[in-house]
Amino acid sequence: MELKYIFGPVPSRRLGKSLGISPIPRKTCNYSCIYCQLGRTDKMTGERKEFFPLKDIINEFKEYLKESFDFDVVTIVGEGEPTLYSKLGELIKEVKKITDKPVAVITNGALLSSKEVRDELMNADIVLPSIDGYNEETAKKIDRPLGTIHFKDELEGLIEFSKEYKGQLLLEIMLISEINCDKNSIEHFKEILKKIKYDKVYLNTPVRPPAENFVKVISQEEMKYAVEELGGISIDMLSSGEFFSEIEDSYEAILNIIRRHPMNQFEINSFLDSRKEKLGYNIFEKLESDEKINCILYKGIKTYRLK
Ligand code: SF4
Repeated sequence: MELKYIFGPVPSRRLGKSLGISPIPRKTCNYSCIYCQLGRTDKMTGERKEFFPLKDIINEFKEYLKESFDFDVVTIVGEGEPTLYSKLGELIKEVKKITDKPVAVITNGALLSSKEVRDELMNADIVLPSIDGYNEETAKKIDRPLGTIHFKDELEGLIEFSKEYKGQLLLEIMLISEINCDKNSIEHFKEILKKIKYDKVYLNTPVRPPAENFVKVISQEEMKYAVEELGGISIDMLSSGEFFSEIEDSYEAILNIIRRHPMNQFEINSFLDSRKEKLGYNIFEKLESDEKINCILYKGIKTYRLK
């Protein structure tokens, strides 16, 4: 079955086996984060649209469910910002009608300033917004949002949402060396977190190749300090499960996964190990000579993603 909107399940360190639904075209976002693993955003937009017909996404999901139920959560996540999908609220409701599994939405949080978006997200079981900056200046530096997006509105929206939301609110802060991880920054985050009613805060650092070369991961000491001060969970501390694909041919399965989720050499090796298939060729040579694939050497580790 050719899947256009559904991908995975992929192991998510926060959510378990996560079946993804992407309701927006690739790299459609209202941010262009310096750490984005998709590279610079080429479709910057603040306009919410029904990029793909809701009924097509739901039909694909129904078809998928005829074959597999082996996932823990349905995650609405785009290779971009899923709240830009104008029928997000209906999408969540429709998905919930056809599965008992929890529905999560991963968002950059920019549109939480909008009451309409907040209302739509109320129906999700889990919402995972990110906060990268702690004021207009740091937010602009890291997220490079559209000019119409302001940190203060976003934060007020998130605080507002957190007061009414009944599901799980899992925050993520992306900590970047020399930008938002010093003691002063952590102090600012601490003040912000006091205003939000959340369940957990995850702390991350850009371990996958970022959009900009100057983006650096933070040190272990810095992460430890942030974990202690913010009462957070470092994403590194969570163990990752194995990638999974129903596609029989391992090469095709890898292509399918890296369409949405870049894999590094270790993830590919453990994926192949889990399938116990003997390949008659060198997978890495094949991937590296494939014109559809970008191989990025970052911190001594090769990561593969579809162009
Ligand atoms: S919000 Fe997400 S998709 Fe958009 S630029 Fe930032 S990291 Fe990339």
